[in-house]
Amino acid sequence: MTFHPSSPWRLSCTECGRAYEERAVRYVCPACAVLQEPGGATRGVLEVVWEPSALRDGWRHALGVADRIGLERFRSLLPVGQAAPRIPLVVGDTPTLDVPRLRSRLGMPRLFVKDETRNPSASYKDRASALVCMKAAEYGEQTIVAASTGNAATALACIAASLGQRAVILVPASAPPAKLVQMLSYGAEVLPVDGTYDQAFELSLEATRRFGWYNRNTAFNPFTIEGKKTSAFEMVLALGRAPDVVVVPTGDGVIVSGVAKGFRDMLAVGAIDRLPRLVAVQAEGSASIARALRSGGPLETTANAHTVADSICVAAPRAGLLAVREVRRSGGAGVMVSDDAIVESIGELARYAAVFTEPAGAAAHAGLLAALAQGLVSPGENVVLLVTGHGLKDIASASKGIRMPPPIPADVEALNQAVRDGATDGPEQR
Ligand SMILES: *Cc1c(COP(=O)(O)O)cnc(C)c1O
Ligand SMILES: [Zn+2]
Repeated sequence: MTFHPSSPWRLSCTECGRAYEERAVRYVCPACAVLQEPGGATRGVLEVVWEPSALRDGWRHALGVADRIGLERFRSLLPVGQAAPRIPLVVGDTPTLDVPRLRSRLGMPRLFVKDETRNPSASYKDRASALVCMKAAEYGEQTIVAASTGNAATALACIAASLGQRAVILVPASAPPAKLVQMLSYGAEVLPVDGTYDQAFELSLEATRRFGWYNRNTAFNPFTIEGKKTSAFEMVLALGRAPDVVVVPTGDGVIVSGVAKGFRDMLAVGAIDRLPRLVAVQAEGSASIARALRSGGPLETTANAHTVADSICVAAPRAGLLAVREVRRSGGAGVMVSDDAIVESIGELARYAAVFTEPAGAAAHAGLLAALAQGLVSPGENVVLLVTGHGLKDIASASKGIRMPPPIPADVEALNQAVRDGATDGPEQR
């Protein structure tokens, strides 16, 4: 690929391979894009491809600026120009936690949890929204629109608030109330849609066509993947190597594709010597990508997609083609987990890793158990669980895994009685 002298990167079609200068195209490949194939995916998604020496220089630069926080550390590896603002928040920079109690519980001495709940709006989506908001500012766009199952919109609302941008959000009215409250509190203009995420997605594309608003949608805006690649850089820095396996909760498939892209960039600069295997975890009721990975067949949409994990509830995975390709290329696999296993994993992660996550994040833990049982991962391997969103976003689901104790009268005798009756002997009294 040839690069324009003024830019170290270009947009390249993940389907037909055509390359474009940044100014020549905004969203998907003009030559071959199909916004929704029969299997639900978008064909012709563009990805950022770097000129190899620029990528090497960028990585060397990132290693030298340890004092910069969040995504700013990786600015030299992000496709942004001088005009893109610095985001006045710490996006990314999340810890790769040693989890001693979870390690001994699972007999996995080299297990880590990457705690993405610590992002500004409390989910992994901040990484993508940050880059999209930087690009919107660089392009002089005033309004950003997104369709979302909840967290992508919340992240957009949050980052837009930090920069003073206008965010318009189309979200299924059925999204967990905490997420709706959160995005409204950030000051976004929210249009709850009486319909599915897929319908909200269509409407947001129409809004971009009609009103010219800059669109953040997954597998449509090429910069979401590039923002989502950054956790791979952090894992390499934290571990000093590539993990053997990264377990990724998967809905549309952008996170898993972004993580793959990040490790491919690291491989290209020689920071790692091989790619980790990616395990894409989906809920049984919303498992198009995992099914295609297991069957080897084409992607198929999921009729009546349903799961307690709203953030990975997707009938038609927009980045499905990419995700399947990337997971295969990594030598990884897809796994499916039940809602019961997901709810149980909320408690396991909270008690044994002290990380409280929403159901989608807990799917990483449930998926690890499934992958161990199926022999896809062995206990001695270096494994990172990507725990993608905070538990306070959906306490209704977390409540399914606990027992709320009844109140006692406010006197000492009642306290004595309750202790004698075993009310304080929780499941951890061993
Ligand atoms: C969006 C999301 C995911 C899945 O990401 P995709 O790119 O849609 O696969 C997983 N966990 C959480 C908390 C999310 O918000
Ligand atoms: Zn193309």
